[in-house]
Amino acid sequence: MYKGEVVESRYTDDVIKEPLHPYTKALITTIPNPDPYVKRTELPVKESQSKMTYEGCRFRDRCPWATEKCAKDIPEINMDNRMVKCILHL
Ligand code: SF4
Repeated sequence: MYKGEVVESRYTDDVIKEPLHPYTKALITTIPNPDPYVKRTELPVKESQSKMTYEGCRFRDRCPWATEKCAKDIPEINMDNRMVKCILHL
């Protein structure tokens, strides 16, 4: 869920093992690893713009893959019993 909107839905294990939405991917990379020798590789996420409207994808001001298409309504894409709201999966 991002800014009050479900952006990806599936069984928890599936989402953690193979996240599809860029926000979910970024979120998963922030999970701490107890091994101090494993280097964390967080996905780049841009700073949020505070005056953004809620048309289109709510994550677009922070998403490194955002395009002009992301400013329009993003449909829910359903595949393999999984829901994701991202044009990368149309
Ligand atoms: S719809 Fe666009 S802005 Fe939103 S997560 Fe997908 S690529 Fe990024």
